[in-house]
Amino acid sequence: MGTTSNTDRLHFVLIPWLAPGHMLPMIDIACLLAEHGTTVTVVTTPANASRIGPTIDRVADSGLPVCFVSLRFPAVEAGLPEGCESVDAIPSSDLMIDFFNAGKLLKHPLTDHLCGCRPAPSCVITGTHHAWADDVALEFGVPCLVFRGYSCFSLLSVENLHLYKTHEHVPSATEPFVLPGLPHRVEIKRCQLPRHIERAHRFAEMFREIRDAESSSDGIVVNSFDELEVGYGERLAKATGKKVWNIGPVSLVCNQGRQDIARREDKASVDEAQCSRWLDSWSPESVIYVSFGSMGSFAPSQLMELGSGLLASGRPFVWVIKVGRTWTEETQTWMSERVEGNSKCLLIKGWAPQVRILSHPAVGGFVTHCGWNSTLEGVCAGVPMITWPLFAEQFLNEKLIVEVLAIGVSLGVEKPTEWGKLVEEDVVVVTKGELAKAVEILMDKGEQGEERRKRAKALKEKAMRAMEDAGSSHLNMERLIQYVLVSRESYHTYHPHHTPPPQRKLCVG
Ligand code: UDP
Repeated sequence: MGTTSNTDRLHFVLIPWLAPGHMLPMIDIACLLAEHGTTVTVVTTPANASRIGPTIDRVADSGLPVCFVSLRFPAVEAGLPEGCESVDAIPSSDLMIDFFNAGKLLKHPLTDHLCGCRPAPSCVITGTHHAWADDVALEFGVPCLVFRGYSCFSLLSVENLHLYKTHEHVPSATEPFVLPGLPHRVEIKRCQLPRHIERAHRFAEMFREIRDAESSSDGIVVNSFDELEVGYGERLAKATGKKVWNIGPVSLVCNQGRQDIARREDKASVDEAQCSRWLDSWSPESVIYVSFGSMGSFAPSQLMELGSGLLASGRPFVWVIKVGRTWTEETQTWMSERVEGNSKCLLIKGWAPQVRILSHPAVGGFVTHCGWNSTLEGVCAGVPMITWPLFAEQFLNEKLIVEVLAIGVSLGVEKPTEWGKLVEEDVVVVTKGELAKAVEILMDKGEQGEERRKRAKALKEKAMRAMEDAGSSHLNMERLIQYVLVSRESYHTYHPHHTPPPQRKLCVG
């Protein structure tokens, strides 16, 4: 690649929000930027660095100019358990604010580190929750771009709700209303919206800080592609008054014949060769892949109901479970008796090589929590999906999958769970029968099922093309780099005597 000229002195600083669903795509973005001829620094913390160790090694082996800087995360000082450096490691959502505030303490060590960097930083791309990152960009006189990890569809929906406040005028949280300002007519309920839209939420102050930082950013980087969300990127740019660059699906960075897809996982809990052999033993498009991202977990009753639904569907399935509070003696016994010995099931307890599994020809359907990365990975694999959103913006993603793209079957989940609450309440939201029925509909070889599959495959082709040379995402990446080049030139025109801050003591953990 490296098709943009004069990029060798550009230095992008990427500060992913500390959660797997943010870290993974931002590392892919780092590789993409480096392939376009720029230097990249990715900011992380010791526990995260060790977790993504194989990825760091792979990037180092590639020879790309991507450097990882590991800054000490003050977990204990912030009242968090030692080593709690990622959102999925926070034991209770009550500690979210402490985690958010601890993140702010990365600012000074990072600035100190960057002062010693040559080339000097040219642009900061920050995960949205690092509301302090624009100060770092300001200090170096460079643009600050935001990576929220959302689709354009969700970003635009949320932006419009901030603008029109339609949801505040609906009498009940469970009454459907039409999302304003979208090119499609999409209905949703207030209770299904991401929590950060609520003015009276217990984290409202944190959400406000995040939104203020987003508002002062120079542009929005989106892991999506123009052909997937036609018209949404342009509308988002208009609604926010910011530049928007669709540069994905970035998971394809690891997918283009580099043989390293499986290295995305950290604690591999399944032998990869065994997983491949198991998948190889099934006919094309016959297996259901079931996963709820890095943070999705269920109470024992729902977990067993889910398993019963999968068994009742009669289809082979790969089921990924995050073993945690859900793993009681009862579930353990149930799993070993009903699932683990069953030749039609591959149970993965822990972290699964998701991108690799999804791209196996045997996989024909994906039961997903509609996290945006998983959604895009499903699109890239060309598989239709069964949607089971849990929280955050996942209900919006469900709307995109089922109603706009028509590549999914909804389980009709009504309400989101406050992160972790479903586990505590031990309620059954989706019954065995509902899940088995949805699998039947998804895998059906009749006209509707075939049309859905055709649409999913067509999107896969478009995703691949978007990432190729001269594809839409490739060109958008060139435009983003050009924007940073032009910003630098105009900055130097207006600040001719500016030199980067002097080198200071390094504070790298
Ligand atoms: N993932 C994975 N293995 C797992 C669980 C998740 O590789 O067992 C990856 C998945 O491929 C995706 C990311 O972690 O890239 C999860 O991001 P997503 O936005 O789908 O959901 P989140 O975890 O943020 O809720």
